[in-house]
Amino acid sequence: MDRTLVMKFGGTSVGSADAINRAVTLIQEGAGKWENLVVVVSAMSGVTDNLIRCARTAAGGQQEGYLEIIEALRDRHVSVVNLLFQADQEQQELLQVIEHQLSNLTALCSSIHILGEVTPRAMDVISSLGERINARIIAALLRELGLLSQAVDATECIVTDARFQSAVPLMDKTREKVRSRLLPEFGENRIPVVTGFMAATEDGITTTLGRGGSDYTAAILGSCLDAAEVWTWTDVDGVMTADPRLVPDAKVIPMLSYAEVSELAYFGAKVLHPRTIRPIVERNIPLWVKNTFNPGIEGTCIVREADKQQDLVKAVTLIKDLSMVTVEGRGMMGVPGIAARTFGAVARQGASVLMISQASSEQSISFIIPAETSQEVIRSVESEMELELERRDVDRVWAMDGIVIVTVVGAGMRHIPGIAARVFKALAGEGINVVAIAQGSSDFSLSLVVSAADGAAAVGSIHNGLFN
Ligand code: ASP
Ligand code: MG
Repeated sequence: MDRTLVMKFGGTSVGSADAINRAVTLIQEGAGKWENLVVVVSAMSGVTDNLIRCARTAAGGQQEGYLEIIEALRDRHVSVVNLLFQADQEQQELLQVIEHQLSNLTALCSSIHILGEVTPRAMDVISSLGERINARIIAALLRELGLLSQAVDATECIVTDARFQSAVPLMDKTREKVRSRLLPEFGENRIPVVTGFMAATEDGITTTLGRGGSDYTAAILGSCLDAAEVWTWTDVDGVMTADPRLVPDAKVIPMLSYAEVSELAYFGAKVLHPRTIRPIVERNIPLWVKNTFNPGIEGTCIVREADKQQDLVKAVTLIKDLSMVTVEGRGMMGVPGIAARTFGAVARQGASVLMISQASSEQSISFIIPAETSQEVIRSVESEMELELERRDVDRVWAMDGIVIVTVVGAGMRHIPGIAARVFKALAGEGINVVAIAQGSSDFSLSLVVSAADGAAAVGSIHNGLFN
């Protein structure tokens, strides 16, 4: 049976000559163990940001600014190539690749400069440039190590719609194209090094899959190639039980289900975007998150459904910079439609509601939104409730600023009694006041609102109470 592994390297894992050396060592090891290996690479860390900044600077009319950014990008890539390669043919060819890509960039930016505008379509060509260079560097280095390898632009494999900057793959067409492009590489025993993040429409116009999209690339390829596993290499040991900056004894979570990943991402943990991993989760392909700077640690495995025995509490997260808006009034009791109209007014401001709680007496509705939207949201709700405010059915609409949401995530929470009791005991032990509570509709989470000043202590004490 074919055993295929997709290995994806994030920006910091291929962000310097040293990091790239580590990455190719890991690829070499993988090549010895797996029948087929596909590598997906990001741009060097910070390069995509700089490319986007470059295009925007050009559009803003500052010629000096964008030329300087291009110069810095040239320096960075040339110096990495010079550190990694002797003066040989691979080195010469890579320097030409860099020159070619950057002179394209300069030409594009000078048109943008003249037009004074950058279209999303042009932005996709520009922002994916770092991936194109990096794939070529890494394939060349693998060849220097005696492996057969070939850089592949994902425009040759992944077919998307034309929603530039966050294109959606057309999976049937993509599957066909991925297989016809990459299976022959396997046949020749070559390791394809595919550019992450970028793709193309059916007409071959470059698109990108959204920021951080290389994970998506890896998942798409894993799914289309019926891979046995997908590994994403990054600069942390895996998904952690809490942010290690808040909780120094946070641990790596060995196994997570797709639902838990979604919950974690929603509640502020920096993990994979659930959308990006859906293609492989659907096919039951496990995804590992591993650390290139600490490859001895196994990392976190994400599966469709985690083993029930393991499903206790997984992590404690924190979302900062929030406000709680309350609509209150004795006349609201039993009046249908108040909630619908309130949230309609919130939606018109484009604010996303993170949590809702309603007192059972129906005398108030409270909801949590990002702090920066609270003033507009209050105005919008007030104007929706103009009549009710006049009649005093609604007394006031007000915001409590400076709050955070602390969430405990884990699919096992619904089976294990007493988790909530332990959470509240931990908070009481620290004298932390809980402003509001919500149980996630999925039963996979319990969220608490506390004041921002108590946020870190709340995460620490809950983590301590549940994991120690
Ligand atoms: N280089 C792209 C970005 O920074 C894609 C990625 O890193 O996954 O968004
Ligand atoms: Mg990245």
